[in-house]
Amino acid sequence: MATAPAGSPIRRALAEAIGVRHVIPGGEADPKFRADVLGKYVADPLFVVRPGDTAEVAACVRIAAEHGASVTVVGGQTGTVGGAIAAPGGIALSLDRMNRVIAMDTVSMAMTVEAGCILQTAQEAAEAEGAFLPLDLGSRGSATVGGAIAANAGGNRVLRWGMMRDMVTGLEVVLADGTIVSSLTPMIKDNAGYAWKQLMLGSEGTLGIITRAVLRLRPKPTTDQTALLALADFASVTALLRSLEVRLGGRLSSFELMWGDFYAAMTAAQLAARPRPMAEGHAFYALVEMLGGDPDHDAGQFEAALGAAIEDGLVADAVIASSGRERDALWAVREDMVPGLAAYKPFMVYDVSMALSAMPGFVEQVRIRLEAAFPGVRMLFYGHAGDGNLHIIVNVGDKGMAHEREVDRIVYEMTGEVGGSIAAEHGIGRSRIGFLGLTRSPAEIDLMRRIKRALDPEGILNPGKILE
Ligand SMILES: Cc1cc2nc3c(=O)[nH]c(=O)nc-3n(C[C@H](O)[C@H](O)[C@H](O)COP(=O)(O)OP(=O)(O)OC[C@H]3O[C@@H](n4cnc5c(N)ncnc54)[C@H](O)[C@@H]3O)c2cc1C
Repeated sequence: MATAPAGSPIRRALAEAIGVRHVIPGGEADPKFRADVLGKYVADPLFVVRPGDTAEVAACVRIAAEHGASVTVVGGQTGTVGGAIAAPGGIALSLDRMNRVIAMDTVSMAMTVEAGCILQTAQEAAEAEGAFLPLDLGSRGSATVGGAIAANAGGNRVLRWGMMRDMVTGLEVVLADGTIVSSLTPMIKDNAGYAWKQLMLGSEGTLGIITRAVLRLRPKPTTDQTALLALADFASVTALLRSLEVRLGGRLSSFELMWGDFYAAMTAAQLAARPRPMAEGHAFYALVEMLGGDPDHDAGQFEAALGAAIEDGLVADAVIASSGRERDALWAVREDMVPGLAAYKPFMVYDVSMALSAMPGFVEQVRIRLEAAFPGVRMLFYGHAGDGNLHIIVNVGDKGMAHEREVDRIVYEMTGEVGGSIAAEHGIGRSRIGFLGLTRSPAEIDLMRRIKRALDPEGILNPGKILE
């Protein structure tokens, strides 16, 4: 276990900077600082530090640098690639004391939050003011705004409102040398020089520590139409998606796709909690949501659009939610995955992306290649298909995790072959290190190294992530 005696110079300096009770020896820290969400990686940080403001974050970074210790921010620890695992002998930095919504501006439609704020808290604060923060993830109750920015999170509504990248107008970060850079503006347009804030989006804590952000808000939708649709083939899936985009006038907000075996596995495991919304046995199931603002006409428009899709032969069966409870039950098919996944343990999980046109061929090839390499392999496919994002669950037997790198290689090589990306959402972190070259060119990776060296020449910030 990494230890530093109570009187060690680094511990004394940190305690002086942020208060002794906010410098916690690693061995005494909460489990989330010592293991990742999937239990794949363990960490043994020297300390967990809990700075109370940006100046204290900067002081922690400077002290760590002076003593040759690295700094890894641990947010909600909901990322699945081991990104928030502190390096050996490094410091884990928690922003749990910096968790406030600082300001709400419903004229400019922007909110300023501290990076440790939980995503759901930010969503609810916006809604209390009649505004709407569109970013939404299954992990909303634990993920932090800073973590969502550092991972450039996407989620259920990218199709309509984009990723975190599209919602951050202002940012404050602490650089590796302790410099504070702040531009907390609600301005949407700002082309004055390099877009340095965008560089921080998705940088996974390797280029700077995000301490505060200004997030773009939208008017709060007042109506919500949700349906579960069954489809016979992938051509119907893509035709349905485009048809709904047009017929709903740009208000299609989610298009979650589940392959038939995913639907069967999840709903079978959920039977104790709720009945199946519709029979299993179809090739695909799409969960679609329209958020709008016209209570008199939205339900009619939604039903007409689905009616047209049925008439066009795209949809084989449909269930439309007629209450909030029914809506939640439809979403639970997609989001209440813990019972269904229990039968797939130990499993590997992937989130790749590609052009929608490549998706059916990709899935077919992954099935063929994994079955050839691991007879009896079990796989589930689902994802935010509206934006080309596919999740895959793979089980290759009880001792399967020993083969993880081989499975990774098969999935990521195939992703490269279709011109996709090995990381649609969760980033590269630690678990995807070594595969970046499959979907990024040598020149791109070299540029990434140059950026890292320019901003963090000593490798203080989250070492061992993204780049080898
Ligand atoms: C059930 C479930 C559903 C999910 N659904 C989605 C989804 O739909 N879409 C999606 O995109 N992701 C999803 N995720 C992944 C995850 O929730 C997101 O990546 C989330 O944004 C991470 O936030 P966090 O606070 O947990 O960050 P962590 O997991 O703690 O950290 C993630 C990375 O960001 C760095 N980091 C954290 N905070 C900061 C900061 N303030 N400054 C600099 N670096 C920082 C960490 O060092 C680490 O490298 C899901 C995860 C789970 C468990």
